[in-house]
Amino acid sequence: MEILEHVSMCDHTTLRLGGEVRFFVSIASVPELREALVFAQDKKIPFVVVGGGSNVLFVDDEWNGLVIHMKLMGREYEEGNKGDAKVTVAAGEIWDQFVEETVSLGYWGIENLSRIPGTVGAAPVQNIGAYGVEVAEVIDWVEVLNAKTNELHILSSSECRFGYRDSIFKHEEGKDYIITRVSFRFTTQPQPRLEYKDLYEYFGVRTDVSVTEVREAINKIREAKFPSLMKVGTAGSFFKNPIVSEQLIVEMEKWLDTPIPHYTLKDGTVKIPAGWILERLGWKGKREGNVGCWEKHALLLVHYGEGSAKEFLNFVEKVKKSVKEKTTIILEPEVRIVGAEVTTST
Ligand SMILES: Cc1cc2nc3c(=O)[nH]c(=O)nc-3n(C[C@H](O)[C@H](O)[C@H](O)COP(=O)(O)OP(=O)(O)OC[C@H]3O[C@@H](n4cnc5c(N)ncnc54)[C@H](O)[C@@H]3O)c2cc1C
Repeated sequence: MEILEHVSMCDHTTLRLGGEVRFFVSIASVPELREALVFAQDKKIPFVVVGGGSNVLFVDDEWNGLVIHMKLMGREYEEGNKGDAKVTVAAGEIWDQFVEETVSLGYWGIENLSRIPGTVGAAPVQNIGAYGVEVAEVIDWVEVLNAKTNELHILSSSECRFGYRDSIFKHEEGKDYIITRVSFRFTTQPQPRLEYKDLYEYFGVRTDVSVTEVREAINKIREAKFPSLMKVGTAGSFFKNPIVSEQLIVEMEKWLDTPIPHYTLKDGTVKIPAGWILERLGWKGKREGNVGCWEKHALLLVHYGEGSAKEFLNFVEKVKKSVKEKTTIILEPEVRIVGAEVTTST
């Protein structure tokens, strides 16, 4: 295990922004992970775990901490006799390679989550979701190393407190947990989830689809909407979809003079697509210098190259300000910003 110094996070994040970090280490085993934590404790510096760097942004100034690059590998398959299967996967495995493998085995469960960048260990952190499915639906348990005690623990799915783009790992109670393995439940019984608009438009009235066809459809839909990470930097949807009161929807419909697409949740609150709001306010396709909103998907904030985290974050604030002025909604970032843990929310 080699601890590197002054490593640029541009090369380790899909936004391709951010300055250097004081220390950086890739860990490939639990003993190495423990060693890395002891290093940070001895130096009295904070640590951050990074997988694929596809949901994280580092500020431009050097961050005085240790980045632990998650490289734990391994997948264990266990087939049941009632058409069910369990798979336990190490945190550093690439998420989409895992999805591809389960789909090729005919397992239903995560096909709608095809093509999401990043690692398996990061998937529970923000309870990744797409096309009507959230990963929490198939997670049985999550193994974590508690950085305070250096002990491994198993957390049940309910102990992970999954919510919309949320889990215990994003909160104070879970801040010492480093995810080392995740266990998933699958079924070989067809369970297509095609209620999401893009999917029912793709398949029409068909319901007899195979799991491979669903993955192919998602791949095509995403290919048309998302930029190539080889050409443009992005961390995916930058903001969470806001959850507001029914009353606000009524008022917003008056202010914006149009019906608002929304989805009513069990508790009576309402989720609005943030991308729709940005599009309505004219942000879609808008570029300012080296940053902007993607032309085919307003919620994707992008970096065209040669920009800085400061320029990007100024743009973020500008977008938030315009949304607040027109709707009173304060957009919350989905992406973790390291080095500026207290973000402004004007
Ligand atoms: C083009 C694009 C499309 C995307 N589409 C979607 C989408 O459809 N749905 C969706 O939900 N997300 C989407 N994302 C966001 C992102 O891909 C997911 O959040 C993904 O799970 C992040 O994985 P990562 O390994 O890159 O995590 P990182 O960016 O490395 O880390 C993200 C967060 O998780 C923490 N973390 C990472 N690994 C661990 C670990 N082992 N233990 C504890 N904490 C850890 C980090 O500290 C950080 O807080 C998209 C991103 C991009 C760039």
